[in-house]
Amino acid sequence: MSSPYPLGLRLAGLRVVVVGGGAVATRRVPALLDAGADVLLVSPELTPALRAHVDAGRLRWEPRRFAPDDLDGAWLVQAAIDDPAAAAVVSDAAAERRIFCVRADDRAAATAWTPAVTRHGPVTVAVLGGGDPRRAMSVRDAVRALLSAGKGVESVGQRSPVDTPGGREPAVGRVALVGAGPGDPELITVKGWRLLTEADVVVADRLVPGLLLDELRAGVELVDASKIPYGPSRAQEEINRILVDRALAGAFVVRLKGGDPYVFGRGGEELLACAAAGVPVTVVPGVTSSIAAPAAAGIPVTHRAVAHEFTVVSGHVPPDSPASLVRWDALAGLRGTLVILMGLKNLAAITETLIAHGRPAQTPAAVVQEGTTGGQRVLRSTLGAVAADVVAAGLRPPAVVVVGDVVGTLDG
Ligand code: SAH
Repeated sequence: MSSPYPLGLRLAGLRVVVVGGGAVATRRVPALLDAGADVLLVSPELTPALRAHVDAGRLRWEPRRFAPDDLDGAWLVQAAIDDPAAAAVVSDAAAERRIFCVRADDRAAATAWTPAVTRHGPVTVAVLGGGDPRRAMSVRDAVRALLSAGKGVESVGQRSPVDTPGGREPAVGRVALVGAGPGDPELITVKGWRLLTEADVVVADRLVPGLLLDELRAGVELVDASKIPYGPSRAQEEINRILVDRALAGAFVVRLKGGDPYVFGRGGEELLACAAAGVPVTVVPGVTSSIAAPAAAGIPVTHRAVAHEFTVVSGHVPPDSPASLVRWDALAGLRGTLVILMGLKNLAAITETLIAHGRPAQTPAAVVQEGTTGGQRVLRSTLGAVAADVVAAGLRPPAVVVVGDVVGTLDG
């Protein structure tokens, strides 16, 4: 058999006909929609997933068997049916009209094959296994592992100098504010991980999982933001300055922050500083410890018939301080789950205030230290006793405090 000729089809706005409404069509349709194809689905029946695409208006459905005229105006057809006689009718109609036809039932009879695919940002890797889809998939899996381990894509993140009227100067780089997740290095997002492997400069927080940094590519400049001297506000200015300066010098800077960048992470200030300097910024959300640390301790922040709300609040300012922006008296009146970050130091004052304003002292409470990491510690208590219990157990930051009836709901 002669070898296939690989192509990247640019299907935006072009008619693609999919014949069949079962499992194969369900797997094929999303990539066609992603490519912007004008999909016509011909099939008497549909899977619920395909029906959802129809209901959302993402494709047109003809609820009947295939007729050769369905291919009029099409650029490509997918015969996603396993009956060889019916598939042959589709592929004959396609051949007559000089349209490529992918066949699920018989690869040897098809004029086109769908490769096994992995996508890595702008890069698409498509593997054809010489007629053996399983071989294609195992090669694809190996390439995917390589790409997500950050190997083989080193040039992707590097900007080349551009010609400017004054000579060759580096183009302006960019900044990505990336949420690193709560602690387990596997809880970073796929996108966050990809950007990290592409970075020229990584500015990391104290709470960022160390293992993530262990795997950066050689030559990356690592700035440890927690080691910046000066007080907290000068340190933030200094971080903003580093982000802007490196990006203006042409680097791709990843600002890696614990949890989610916008949950008590000062991500907004960094975004504004970059915007003011004309540096483009991407924000990649992260798995926040406010939800993940309780989850890792077996505590769901909501549960049917137990809690219909959860509130995340910072406890770093004492409740009676004029600088406090939190209405603790109002929070005391809520029935749902209260998650307190940065709350250990002021925990006695916080719990007393909640009780004084009406939250019952026997409300279940828990503290999760270093949630999702190997060092995770969990303390279960009540609102009335938790502050003393934390001291007795010697718990330390980083920790979240969870107050509400969800604590204990999943305990057997
Ligand atoms: N942006 C982060 C929060 C930054 S504030 C996020 O979305 O998770 C820092 C506070 O987060 C800590 O004081 C602690 O209250 C909480 N925290 C962060 N990581 C934690 C973890 N692994 N376990 C428990 N609490 C954590």
